Order: sequence, then structure tokens, then C-alpha cells
Amino acid sequence: FQQLSTVDPEIAGVVLGELDRLRGGLQLIASENLTSPAVLAALGSTLTNKYAEGYPGRRYYGGCGEVDRAEEIAIARAKELFDAEHANLQPHSGASANLAAYAALVQPGDTVLAMDLPHGGHLTHGSRVNFSGKWFHPVGYTVRPDTELIDYDEVRDLALAHRPKMIICGATAYPRLIDFARFREIADEVGAYLMVDAAHFIGLVAGRAIPSPVPYADVVCFTTHKVLRGPRGGMILCRESLAARIDKAVFPFTQGGPLMHAVAAKAVALREAAQPEFRAYAGQVVQNAQALAAGLAAEGMRPVSGGTDTHLALIDLRETGVTGAEAEARCDAATITLNKNAIPYDPQKPMVASGIRVGTPSVTTQGMGVPEMRQVASLIARAVRTDPAAPGGADTLAGIAGEVAELAAAFPAYPRG
Ligand code: PLP
Repeated sequence: FQQLSTVDPEIAGVVLGELDRLRGGLQLIASENLTSPAVLAALGSTLTNKYAEGYPGRRYYGGCGEVDRAEEIAIARAKELFDAEHANLQPHSGASANLAAYAALVQPGDTVLAMDLPHGGHLTHGSRVNFSGKWFHPVGYTVRPDTELIDYDEVRDLALAHRPKMIICGATAYPRLIDFARFREIADEVGAYLMVDAAHFIGLVAGRAIPSPVPYADVVCFTTHKVLRGPRGGMILCRESLAARIDKAVFPFTQGGPLMHAVAAKAVALREAAQPEFRAYAGQVVQNAQALAAGLAAEGMRPVSGGTDTHLALIDLRETGVTGAEAEARCDAATITLNKNAIPYDPQKPMVASGIRVGTPSVTTQGMGVPEMRQVASLIARAVRTDPAAPGGADTLAGIAGEVAELAAAFPAYPRG
């Protein structure tokens, strides 16, 4: 870091500023986490210099002996941790992994059945502003208005009516377990591939806190930087029969040279995820999310579907009269970082939204538990109800920020020394 501050004090200032932000506030974005110093060390290593187009033992460049070892270790760890037949660790991101899965399994114009965006699906599941909606024919399934759970009968009806070539399950804002066996049955009935986008919850699978999609899916795509707590990036698991197609879809079809420092950092994260402490962490992530959802419910903020089985809760704020956008800004002012989120059948536009999404990976990594989640729920509720434009509002939010700083200091992110 000394080198960085000498060569580029401006960027060094940004890095320090971000560290201060992480240390001083509460990070409740469900898709974020705090990677370990070991993962950061691999990311900041000389492996970033190496061009290694191709796969271990089959590269288009010389000098790949060391990076081959890194990728082989990473692949072996991924296969073992997830009990998968094949693993590709080169996707640069979750969206890149999904793009490769489309490229391997379907043709432009084919029908793909996936969760509607406003109900929790991701951009790559058929949004019109994304390749998935422009190049393919997306059909969306929803959650039931009464239970706010996936309506498997609707999924089956849509599959029978539209005969998709691929069905996707997995979402960005669905707090409940997904019945992978049921999706497999539906996919088999219509002869579709089943792609599970496990970006959000794969870390819980690694920590054995929720069931694995691997036995049911043809392909499992995910990010490595959410609950899994690795570097920013993507990964794909699949059956051996699809291995060659997936590998070719990643390189050379959708990507060039892999980011070998990121591949090495993924290997480190996979090693960490195989330790007993990671299982304890994954279980705690879920308990904390449940405690946070219950705490917010007690504050008059309704968890969508009544609660959560995972690391995140979606909170309907309509009873409070505060929009998701307002809540996000108010919490920001109190140094509580979370995001506005559409709730199912949301009457508001997406940029306003009626809800917020909260996740517990980061605070759990910091060592917080159920008692702290009760406190966090109360801090959120007070911040959400404080109008900064009302008399004394800004002071109240500053006061909450002070309480947040005290709590965060007791569970420091990246402890000094
Ligand atoms: N898939 C799901 C379900 C996600 O939630 C996300 C990101 O949040 C992605 C894919 C895309 O990941 P990335 O942002 O790394 O491209």
C-alpha cells in the first residue's frame, strides 16, 4: 500500500476511504461480502500479468506452468466442494457465466423460461435491455400473489404452452428455497435444459446451509463474490457430457484471456469455503437473516413471503408510507448500506420501489449474531422513519450513524493490524 500511496495518492485515498466506509458502517447489500486478506493477496498478485488463453495444458501462450497449476487446483477444489463433474472458473462475472451458458445450450431466437425481473429474476434472465431479452425469446414466471412463493404449477403450465429450450431458476431477490427437483421434472417433461443461476446462494450451498442444485441442474452458474466470499467473478459447474460445450462457450466464444489472478483468488476462496468454520458462518448467515427479518417485522415492516430461508430478506415498506428509494437514502445517511428493491406486484416504478432488500453475509463475516441483528433492525426502522427534511431529521440520522459506528467498531471489518 505504501507503493500505491507514493505513486498515486489519489487512488490510495479512494482505497483508504472505502476501507473507512466498510469499517464505519453496516453493509447489508445481499450480494456483497468482505473477502479475506488471503483472497485479496491473490487478487493483488503478479498473476494479473499472465496471458493464458485456453485451458490448463492447452494454452495459446508460453510460460503458463504456474497459472496452469492455479487453475487445476481451483477446478479440483470446485469439483470436490460442490460434488460436480466439471467446473469452469474463467467467467469474468456472473453475467459472463450466464452468457456462456446461453451460448452453450440455446440458439438465438430460442424460448427461455425464467423468473420475471420484477419478481426477483436477474437482468440476464430475459430483460429487454440485456442480451438475454434481445437475442432470445424470454417467457417469465412469477410468484403467487397470496404466498409470494414461486408458483410451480404456473411454471409447468408456461413450459407446456411455450416449450422452452432452457428453463432458468435462481434469482436476485427471492428469499426462499427453490425446489430444484420440481424444476427438473418440469424441464424433463418439455425436454428443456435446466440452468440454475445460483449466484446469490451458492455460498450457502458450499457451507451446507441449504440444499444443492448440482444433482438436478444441467448447468449451474454463479458469482464467486456473494455469500461465497471470494473475488468478484463467475463460475460454471456442469455434467461431464456438457463440459466441452461450456468450455468452448466461455473461451473462445464469449471471452478472451482469463484473469488468472482472479482464478487463483477463486481457488483460495474455495479452500476457505471447505473449512468447518465456513459451515458455521453459512448457518449463521441464515440465522441472522431470519432474525433481521423478524426484527423488521416487529417494527411494522413486512418481510415478503413472511420471512426467509436464505441470506436475504425482501421488506415491503408500504405500511410505513416510505418508498424504497427514500428508505435507501435515509439509511445511507445513517451509514447503513442497503438497496431499494421492487416487491412482487409492486405499484411503484423500479427506481422508486416499495421495498428494500437486506442481506447478512457481510455483517456475519464481521462476527455479528442474532442479538446484533435485533439492534440492526431497530436502527434500520428508525432511519427509515426519519425524514431528513423534517425539523431535527438530519440530526436524528447523524445520531443513528453514531450508534452504527459504535456497533461496527465492536465487530470491525478488516481489523487493524
Ligand atoms: N445472476 C444473479 C442471480 C445475480 O444476482 C447477479 C448479480 O447480482 C448476476 C447473475 C450477475 O453477476 P455479475 O454482477 O457478477 O455480472
